[in-house]
Amino acid sequence: MRSTTSMYVAVATLVLTMGVGSYVDIQDDVLHARHLEISTGLERMVRLNQELTSMLMISVLEQNTLRTASYDTVNADLEATLKTVGGLTQSQNLSEEVSALSEDHRKLHVTEEAVLKLMRQEHWREARDMLFDDSYVLAKKIYEINTETAVGALTGDLAHTDEYFDGLRLVAQAMRIAALMLLLWVGAMFSRRLRQDVAEQARLREAIAASNLVLEDSVLKRTVELEAANRQLQALSATDGLTGLANRRKFDQEWEAEWQRASRQGLPLAIAMLDVDQFKAYNDHYGHQAGDVCLKMLAQTLSNTVQRSGELVARYGGEEFVVILPGQGGPEAYAAMERIRAAVQALGLPHAKAKVAGVVTISIGVASCVPQQGQSSASLVQAADAAMYQAKNQGRNKVVLA
Ligand code: GH3
Ligand code: MG
Ligand code: MG
Repeated sequence: MRSTTSMYVAVATLVLTMGVGSYVDIQDDVLHARHLEISTGLERMVRLNQELTSMLMISVLEQNTLRTASYDTVNADLEATLKTVGGLTQSQNLSEEVSALSEDHRKLHVTEEAVLKLMRQEHWREARDMLFDDSYVLAKKIYEINTETAVGALTGDLAHTDEYFDGLRLVAQAMRIAALMLLLWVGAMFSRRLRQDVAEQARLREAIAASNLVLEDSVLKRTVELEAANRQLQALSATDGLTGLANRRKFDQEWEAEWQRASRQGLPLAIAMLDVDQFKAYNDHYGHQAGDVCLKMLAQTLSNTVQRSGELVARYGGEEFVVILPGQGGPEAYAAMERIRAAVQALGLPHAKAKVAGVVTISIGVASCVPQQGQSSASLVQAADAAMYQAKNQGRNKVVLA
């Protein structure tokens, strides 16, 4: 049974048993009061009857006329009492006894009326004989015995009803105890469920906290991964795929930044354009893949040779490279480029079709200036480019300062 239903049952039972208890108590009180009233009535009937007889006897013996009014008053009192007792006993199975009493009383009354009549005619002897006659005395005795019987029956009936009420009280008490136990059980059930709910909530909170931790952890991990990927992507977007040098995009950014810085600080800035000599012929002779390998090796040499901080080597496009030399004037930059040119030649990469040295060489154009207000950064690149073409024209494997 569900505990809510049990609680309703228990409360209903308690109310019911309380109702039964009150009903029994009230009925018991009423019954006892009525019992008292009936037995008092019966005793009164016997007493009044004795009074009537005594009245008659004294009058007969003293031979004086009875005061009829007194007799009638007492007789009326007796009749009224008999009627009241009759009414009260109707509901208590005492009707038979009370009917017998009425009958007895009627018999006595008939004799007494006859005696009274004789007394009024002053026939004292006959009246006395009638009054002391055995049958009258016997009838009187029977009347008294019947009264006692009625009282006995009444007491028995009362005891029987009391027993019945005690039984009812016992049942009600037992039901009340059962209902209280049921309520206790319901209370225990509720508190157990409450404890279970609280424990379940705590468990859920812990689970949520734990999964939050896991979530935070994986978000953190993901963020770190994303940041790494982002950095990688940024590096990739600034790097030339073949040579691993800075690409053209990166060069453009850096060149603009260096130009602005030099312009602000009033410092010299140099740039060098590098172009592989007769590389078309190299490709044609050794194949495009060998050309790629050659470009990679050149790139390696360039970045090894350019070591000063702030200097940047980038692939400008095709077989052309560019070097930014911050803070360097023409002669200084020229010297640096001459070292690069020599290093490339010293690599000794065979170039069968090269008319210059039999190995791979480069031509370099260098230009330097202190950037002026209004001067474009592209102008210095163009100057270096022009110098590079001059180097080509002067027979290649040369450095020309613009
Ligand atoms: P010059 O001495 O006048 O510079 O002669 P050149 O042959 O180097 O001049 P040109 O500009 O005509 O040829 C450049 C060649 O470089 C053409 C092209 O095939 C080659 N080249 C450009 N980029 C790459 C590359 O990424 N890989 C390879 N293998 N070859 C390239
Ligand atoms: Mg070229
Ligand atoms: Mg070339």
